[in-house]
Amino acid sequence: MSNESPLLVIVSSPSGAGKTTLTGRLRRQVEGVEFSVSHTTRRPRDGEQDGREYHFTDRPGFEELIRQDAFLEWAEVHSNLYGTSKTEISRKARGIIFDVDHQGARQIKSQRSDAVGIFILPPSMKTLYGRLKGRASEDAATVAARFAVAQEEIAHYGLFDYVLVNDDLEEATQKLVAIFLAEECRRNRSARLAERLLAEGRGFGGSTPPPAD
Ligand code: ADP
Ligand code: 5GP
Repeated sequence: MSNESPLLVIVSSPSGAGKTTLTGRLRRQVEGVEFSVSHTTRRPRDGEQDGREYHFTDRPGFEELIRQDAFLEWAEVHSNLYGTSKTEISRKARGIIFDVDHQGARQIKSQRSDAVGIFILPPSMKTLYGRLKGRASEDAATVAARFAVAQEEIAHYGLFDYVLVNDDLEEATQKLVAIFLAEECRRNRSARLAERLLAEGRGFGGSTPPPAD
């Protein structure tokens, strides 16, 4: 693991396209990748734990955090407030995943241009609807509302560096892992190591081999 700062990965999609599933799989395959845990005013789904999936907050509590300037970004999504606290970006990790909508993605990118944006698309709108319904964690009205704003979310795909189609789950996971590993190898992320090696080489005369231990 390098001692560079964490790779910041923004993952967005229309609801139900597979962000949670794919990023969970990425974390199981690449050690040291953490989720940014957002605040939200939406109610927890079955199985969600406060502090793990989200910090579940009431509206007045969330508005107080806005007043305190505690958020790196925040937005209203599906009639609830969601926000990333500034403290999330300073996690000590190999990578940090920000699962945010397009508004959040834009705000994070504007402050951290080195963040990598990945947009996940379903193979078809029919499949998206089926996945939303199949998740069974929301009632019919919530599913319908989320499907209705899917078009708007998809219209923002142009904000992102990568677009990943989540059709076959295994193939999509491999692509996400490949993007993460390739982004870690960007030249600017290794500049410090390269400079250190050059300094080390100069320390023992440049072209001569290092002294034996
Ligand atoms: P999001 O986090 O983007 O809202 P989820 O990860 O919760 O989406 O996925 C929505 C539903 O679709 C879940 O029930 C998940 O198990 C299912 N799903 C995700 N990816 C695939 C896939 N490639 N093939 C089939 N089902 C999938
Ligand atoms: P869900 O309620 O399904 O967990 O998330 C609904 C939407 O809110 C998703 O598009 C998700 O990416 C977005 N979201 C989750 N956390 C944040 C956040 O901290 N900021 C923003 N802007 N969007 C978020």
